[in-house]
Amino acid sequence: MSELGFGTIPILSGRVPVLPEYFSPDTDTAVAIMRKAFDYGCNFYDTAIPEEYGDAEYKLGEFVKTVDRSKVIISDKARFYGGGDIYREALRSAENLGTKPDIYFVHQVDDSNADEVFGPGGALDALYDLKREGKIGFTGIASHYYTVLYRAALDPRVDVLQGSGNILERGMLDRIREEAAFRDKGFILNKVYAAGLLIGPFTIAELIGGVHEYPFSCALLGVGTFEQCEDAFAKEYTPVHFEFEEVLERLRKNFEPIGCDRCEKCVCPYGHEIHTSFRQFNYFNLGKEFWAANKLKMDLEQTWKDCKNCNEKPCMKECSRHLYVPGEIERIHCLLDSFGSL
Ligand code: SF4
Ligand code: SF4
Repeated sequence: MSELGFGTIPILSGRVPVLPEYFSPDTDTAVAIMRKAFDYGCNFYDTAIPEEYGDAEYKLGEFVKTVDRSKVIISDKARFYGGGDIYREALRSAENLGTKPDIYFVHQVDDSNADEVFGPGGALDALYDLKREGKIGFTGIASHYYTVLYRAALDPRVDVLQGSGNILERGMLDRIREEAAFRDKGFILNKVYAAGLLIGPFTIAELIGGVHEYPFSCALLGVGTFEQCEDAFAKEYTPVHFEFEEVLERLRKNFEPIGCDRCEKCVCPYGHEIHTSFRQFNYFNLGKEFWAANKLKMDLEQTWKDCKNCNEKPCMKECSRHLYVPGEIERIHCLLDSFGSL
């Protein structure tokens, strides 16, 4: 597996609810971009079913026809949590790709669906069956949550994990690096560019070099143009270490970021996922205003009210960055208010 892999969101056409820019190249152009990456040494390509990544799965299938199949590794995924559903989707993906997926992930596993995924007759059992039947190569769990990835790391049915992180959102990667249970699994890292938002404050060399210290098998880079392909795959990258404060300092040239590293150690008894709100605040200021504002306003008003009345503030006891959580929620509330999103 190449150290850097090709994330196919930016080559999709259509309108799907994903964050990064996508460029809607036609199939021939998309295939040529993937081919260019291959020629530079990339051999890992990641996609998802059409409901999630538009026509990227078909385009990847067309690309695979142009190379020696044994020279590329394909991972695919679907957001289905029951065994019957994911079994059906994996077969449909194989049809769309025109070949067997080497890794098939249950996508977007979180606390609300994890018991179904890991439980008897759930998606993981189905992937394990598909693997034994030779219809997929390896089983995978993809999640933004440390608790889910840790559960997957301990589960012998799981071969590969996929999780997110970058030089800003590094808290989960720090925990994964420290936890021996993760050493037995493959680990695919996504969001190295934070959906493109960290490009600008940081160079691509810094973003890729900055994650080299973490124990991933392959880091996915979203690629939608020939230029991006060259930026991602044509160069050699040297590891570089950024202190977290240095990252924040760089962002401060444009705005005052919330210094949350998404370690996900904070737990709110009211169920508020504050690190996600903090992330959307930073993403808002990095240029995804409407997208982030829409996400932010979903739960923010209630969080703001609950934080005001929360005496114990248990989330703060676990916060490795010593954030004053109600104060940061207040900042987000003010931002949304001024943006007219409340
Ligand atoms: S201050 Fe209280 S209500 Fe607000 S996020 Fe923390 S634990 Fe939850
Ligand atoms: S708020 Fe603090 S504990 Fe929670 S994810 Fe961010 S840095 Fe970690």
